[in-house]
Amino acid sequence: MSNQKVSLSEKMSRLKGSFIEQLPERISELKHSLQTLSECAETTNPTLPVLHRHWHSLKGASRIFGFTDLAKITSAAEAQVHPLLDMGNTPIPAAWLEQQRSLIRDLSRHANQLGQHKDNTRRSFQVPYFEMGQVNQQWQEQGSPLVYVCDDETDQVEYLEYQLQCFGYRVRHFTEVGEFEQAVMEQQPDAVVMDVHFPQGKTAGTDTLDRVNQRLGYQLPALVLSGMENFEARLSAYRAGCRSYFTKPVKPLALADALEKLVRKPDTEPYHVLIVDDEPEVAKYHGLILENAGIKVHLVHDPSQVLNVLREFTPDLILIDVYMPVCNGYELAGVIRQVPEFLGISIIYLSSETDPKKQHSAMEVGVEGFITKPVKPEELVSAVRLRSERMRALRGLMTRDSLTGLYNHTTTTEIISAILAHASRDNESLVLAALDLDLFKQVNDNYGHLAGDQVLLALSHMLKNRLRHGDIVGRYGGEEFVILLRNTGTAAAYELLDQLRKEFSGIVFSAGHDTFQCTFSIGLSAYSSYSTLDELMHHADSALYQAKHQGRNRVIIHEAQP
Ligand code: GH3
Ligand code: MG
Ligand code: MG
Repeated sequence: MSNQKVSLSEKMSRLKGSFIEQLPERISELKHSLQTLSECAETTNPTLPVLHRHWHSLKGASRIFGFTDLAKITSAAEAQVHPLLDMGNTPIPAAWLEQQRSLIRDLSRHANQLGQHKDNTRRSFQVPYFEMGQVNQQWQEQGSPLVYVCDDETDQVEYLEYQLQCFGYRVRHFTEVGEFEQAVMEQQPDAVVMDVHFPQGKTAGTDTLDRVNQRLGYQLPALVLSGMENFEARLSAYRAGCRSYFTKPVKPLALADALEKLVRKPDTEPYHVLIVDDEPEVAKYHGLILENAGIKVHLVHDPSQVLNVLREFTPDLILIDVYMPVCNGYELAGVIRQVPEFLGISIIYLSSETDPKKQHSAMEVGVEGFITKPVKPEELVSAVRLRSERMRALRGLMTRDSLTGLYNHTTTTEIISAILAHASRDNESLVLAALDLDLFKQVNDNYGHLAGDQVLLALSHMLKNRLRHGDIVGRYGGEEFVILLRNTGTAAAYELLDQLRKEFSGIVFSAGHDTFQCTFSIGLSAYSSYSTLDELMHHADSALYQAKHQGRNRVIIHEAQP
């Protein structure tokens, strides 16, 4: 049977089904271990850790598949075994053995009931159909982050793998540390999820990771997901470069969140600085100092050109000379501050003015600093860096939505309008998508606002991971998102977004003991040389309205009127 041809929904149902099918065998293993233990009822009996491991892994799987009763029994049983593990040589009381037997009997009873209702269980776990091979192929092309999961508890890992795929990650999973090591040497992943305890040793997972890092000469971005938690395990994780440590069962969203922090590329765009000075030599001199420090510089000698240049060069910071013909530096700063779209740019005067009173009054127009000439090169660089960094951080707060980190409404509109302005000149094909979560109010009402926020976060993770670099995604309103796909025709846009829709509907969210799934609808409109943002939005919205009207969980393309 080819794995590639199996739909994920079917795969999930099979996993759950095969867990139930394997229960009787796992129960006889438990019985066998307990029997061996009772023949030599002492805490040093090597079967004790085996018994613990059986309970532990059953507990994990029961929780993940949502079998609450099984989870209660297995977790009680594990809790009974656990304290005996570190006791040294002590006899095990008969009453303890009897309690374990009784828990195994409870487990068998529940397992039988599940076995009888297995077909129902399968049906209740349906998620929409899509082909695995197809998804992976698209991801290859789009460079979704590649994650290696290394864990020997297969059933839990397959579930996790499935969920991470829904969040837009490509996942390969390994049950053997050796296999993992070999794969990393062939192709390095963007992130690693590593278990600590393997049959080879208590910290074999993190030890392998550490060795791999040494072989590579750098630390792979990694986090630990383990069934156990103790100081030794945590320390070995830290030494292998893992800053996050999760214990099972983990919420897929929490893991996806941590993975995003690991794979996110740092802001490597150099700072842009505009220097305005009527003396070309002085401007060049300061320019060279900054360029030498990796800063991108543009020089202007005529103040009346500044507004035009600002639109093209988009600096983080402007250095202005104070004494210039045409207008002085204070006046120029005042003019720049009149334009709202330039408010996010830091301004610093660079002048030989040393009178603090004059410096102070010069700052009143909304200027961030005053550097007196002549300035030491390192002082100039550090002043420019510090202020540019702060302005970028502030600009991030102004332009991004705090929950999802996506562009906010205003910024989305600004960016898309700017792209449209160039699109007709560049003959670029664009598609605008209006996305709205389905019956989201019910999610909040049934599972709470926090659960609703989880859904919003998951969606934004997926969009960030799966769309291409130049595409624009913004959170337009509460549960409404806008996506601009660039260099794409309507058919390709439809295919991609419809695929995302199917994957998203497969994410299983949890709120307390409940789990739920959520869908979205999309309306699409394509750019043509005469359309404006308003028109595009209007058309996308009416297609979205149709999608809702036709029953939600679908993508509809706006058909232009003949
Ligand atoms: P439809 O399928 O027709 O879009 O139905 P709906 O319930 O999604 O639409 P409706 O506009 O009636 O409800 C939107 C809900 O979205 C109401 C509001 O409480 C919720 N919402 C908006 N912003 C947020 C947010 O930031 N967090 C959470 N948890 N909920 C939000
Ligand atoms: Mg909605
Ligand atoms: Mg709405």
